[in-house]
Amino acid sequence: MSTEHTVIIGAGMAGLLTAAVIGATGRSVTVLEQDQGQGRGQDRGQGQDRGHGHGAPVPRGGVPQGRQPHVLLHRGLSAIEELLPGLRGQLVDAGGVPLDTGDLAWLGEHGWAPFGTPALELVSATRPLVEHVVRRRVAELPGVELRGGTRVRGLSRGPTTTGGGWLIECFDGPPVRADLVVDASGRSSRLPDWLTQLHIGAPATTAVDAGFGYAGRVYVAPSDHLGRVAGIVMLPVPGAPAGGVALPVEGGRWMVAAVGAGDHRPPRDPAGFDAFLTRLRDPALADFARSARPIGDITVHRRTHNVRRRYERLTHWPDGLLVVGDALCAFNPVYGQGITVAATQALLLRQMLAAGVRPGWERRLMRRLHRAAALPWAIATGEDLRHTGGGPASGLDALFGRWSGEVDRLAAHGNLRAQRALDRVYHLVGSPAGLLHPALLAAAVRGRLLGLPTPVPRPPLTPGSAQRDQTDTERHPAYPPPP
Ligand SMILES: Cc1cc2nc3c(=O)[nH]c(=O)nc-3n(C[C@H](O)[C@H](O)[C@H](O)COP(=O)(O)OP(=O)(O)OC[C@H]3O[C@@H](n4cnc5c(N)ncnc54)[C@H](O)[C@@H]3O)c2cc1C
Repeated sequence: MSTEHTVIIGAGMAGLLTAAVIGATGRSVTVLEQDQGQGRGQDRGQGQDRGHGHGAPVPRGGVPQGRQPHVLLHRGLSAIEELLPGLRGQLVDAGGVPLDTGDLAWLGEHGWAPFGTPALELVSATRPLVEHVVRRRVAELPGVELRGGTRVRGLSRGPTTTGGGWLIECFDGPPVRADLVVDASGRSSRLPDWLTQLHIGAPATTAVDAGFGYAGRVYVAPSDHLGRVAGIVMLPVPGAPAGGVALPVEGGRWMVAAVGAGDHRPPRDPAGFDAFLTRLRDPALADFARSARPIGDITVHRRTHNVRRRYERLTHWPDGLLVVGDALCAFNPVYGQGITVAATQALLLRQMLAAGVRPGWERRLMRRLHRAAALPWAIATGEDLRHTGGGPASGLDALFGRWSGEVDRLAAHGNLRAQRALDRVYHLVGSPAGLLHPALLAAAVRGRLLGLPTPVPRPPLTPGSAQRDQTDTERHPAYPPPP
C-alpha cells in the first residue's frame, strides 16, 4: 500500500474493524471519533453508566442505536473471529451469551419455525459490549491511535509540496494529514457534502423506508429464564407489521424490543409499551415482560430506513479514499445485518491489501464493498417493499420473493431442510441459490398436491421454567469448529 498514514473517521464497528485490518499490517492508523472517552486505555465504559452494570460498557451519544438490541448474525461472528482471532471467546468471557439459532422461538410469516435442532451459533450481547471488546483488541495494535473527542468537519487536499494526500479538518483541533482516509462515520455521514465541496460530486442514493420504529427496554432475568428456549423473535410481517425480540445479554439481563411500522410503531411510555406487546400475534413477549423485572427507561429509535450511496457510480473517484459500513450502505436494522456487512467489508479490504495494491485500487475495492452489500440490501429492501406495498424491484425479485415465501411455509410445517436453507441466507452464510434445492422444489409440489404436514407447534415458552438440558459449552465446545 502506498499509504503511509491512514485516518478513519468514526470508531463504530465499521471504523474499528477497518482499523484492525490496517493496523495488523503494521501501518499507522488514527481513528478520529467525536465521542469522548474513546482513547487508548479509556475503554472501560463507553458513555454514561446509568446503573445497568458495574462499570460495564454502556451506550454513547454517537451511536444512539446502541440502546436497542443488536444481533450479531452468524456470518458476522465468524468474520470478526477471522479478523480478530479469539474474539468470540473474549466476548463470552465478558458475559456474552452463546446460543443456538435452533433454540430460538421464531415466529415467521407462516408460523413457528422448527425448534430444538442445532443450527447456527450466535453470541448475544449488548452493542456497547461487542464494541468494547473489539475496541480493546484494536487499541492493542501498536500502530493504532484511537482519538476520542475529535469531530471531523471536512476534507481537503493537502498541499502538493508536502506530498498531497488529505487534510482532515476537525472542529476540536488542528487538521490531521493522511494518505488514506476511510469514512466510517455511519448513517449520518457528511461525505457527500464534502465531496461536493471538492467538486467531485455527491453520489446518487437509493432509499427504501418502511417507517419502522423500535422501543427497547432492559429486563433482569437469568439467561435460562425461558427454559430450553434461548430467546424470542417475532417478525413483523405484511398484514401484521408489528413484532419484537427478547434476547439474553451480559449481566443477567435481557433486551426486549418492540418493533412496528407506520401506525404500528411502539410507544415510549411503559403502559403503552406493555399494551403493544399484548397486541402482538402471540403473547410470548408480553408474558416475558410480565415475568421479568424491567430496569431503566424505554428508549425509542426511528431512523431505520435503508439507504445506499452509490459512490461506485461517480465518474471520478479520488485516490486514497474509502467508505465503509453504514456510511456506504445502511439497512433497516430489523434484519440485523449492519455489523456483519461491515465485518465482511473489512475482510475484503484485508484481501486487497494482502494481494498488493496497484494504482486505482481504491475504486476497485469500492466496487467490491458495494457488491458485499448487495445481498443484504436485496433481503432488507425486498421485505420492506412488501410492507410499503411498493412492489419488488424487478420481476425476478418478485419471483424469488414468492419462492422464499413458499420455503418459509415448508419450514413452518416442519421441513428442516427448508429451515436450514432460510437460516443460512438470513445469517448471510449461504447463497439464496440454496433455497432452490431440488428436494425443496419436490416438497413444495408435494405440499400443493397432497397438503402440507401439520404446522410446527409453539415452542415450550414458559417464563421461569426448567434449566436448559445441556450447557452452552457442551453444545459449542470450540469455535471455530476444529478442522
Ligand atoms: C435501532 C437499530 C438496531 C440495530 N440492530 C442491529 C443488529 O441487530 N445487528 C446489526 O448487525 N446491526 C444493527 N444495527 C446497525 C448497526 O448499528 C450498524 O450497521 C453498525 O454499527 C455499523 O455501523 P458503522 O460503524 O458504520 O456506524 P456507527 O456504528 O453508527 O458508527 C459511526 C461512528 O462515527 C462517529 N462519527 C460520526 N460522525 C463523525 C464525525 N464527523 N467525526 C468523528 N466521528 C464521527 C460516531 O460517533 C460513531 O461512533 C442497528 C441499527 C439501528 C439503528
